[in-house]
Amino acid sequence: MRTVLPCPAWCVEHDDPDPFEPGDGGRHCGHELPVLVGAPARFGLPVLFVQLNAHDCDGRRHSWIDLVAPSRAHAELTVAQARRLADALIAVGDLWEARVPAGMLPPCPPWCEWHDEAMDPESDQWHCGPVRTVPVLGPLRSGAEVRVQLCAGDTRAGRRVVVGLTVWDDEMTELTGAEARRLAAALLNAADDLNAADDLDTADAEGRLAPPD
Ligand SMILES: [Zn+2]
Ligand SMILES: [Zn+2]
Repeated sequence: MRTVLPCPAWCVEHDDPDPFEPGDGGRHCGHELPVLVGAPARFGLPVLFVQLNAHDCDGRRHSWIDLVAPSRAHAELTVAQARRLADALIAVGDLWEARVPAGMLPPCPPWCEWHDEAMDPESDQWHCGPVRTVPVLGPLRSGAEVRVQLCAGDTRAGRRVVVGLTVWDDEMTELTGAEARRLAAALLNAADDLNAADDLDTADAEGRLAPPD
């Protein structure tokens, strides 16, 4: 017999159980927690978002936190992984600094670990700091990760520092320090909501487990 679990407290949209899949108990989605990226004046502002998700199967609930890049590439994270990623974003975001004018450019930012050797003074030069990687649950392949790295692009106009966020092998999303911290806050909030809901779900499931007729 099909077990249908009650909705988690954060559910705002769900799919009913698939009648053609015997163990399927439905899917639940939370609100999209958006983080805008880029200058406010820019048209078609890219947006990252964080969202809670759950799939019920054979009377058990599998929950995770989705991180969705502006390209819509996404990564599925556990509560612990979301917190690790938030820590990395805060740590790297704290090293971020606004644009440095060209006349005051030191040859390398103090955190530089690797840079490309631009011989042509007209072309950009990139400096990159240490990479922080956080393994993620899914969605499809194993060994997947999200990467956070501080990078600087030097042009004749000056140095632009970005917090680079890469979901899987997607293109890097460039964040300011403040945007990195806002994303960290969204991840931490989602992790807390999921934790609270999980505690309830477990209590619910235990209370409900009556012997079969
Ligand atoms: Zn639901
Ligand atoms: Zn360098």
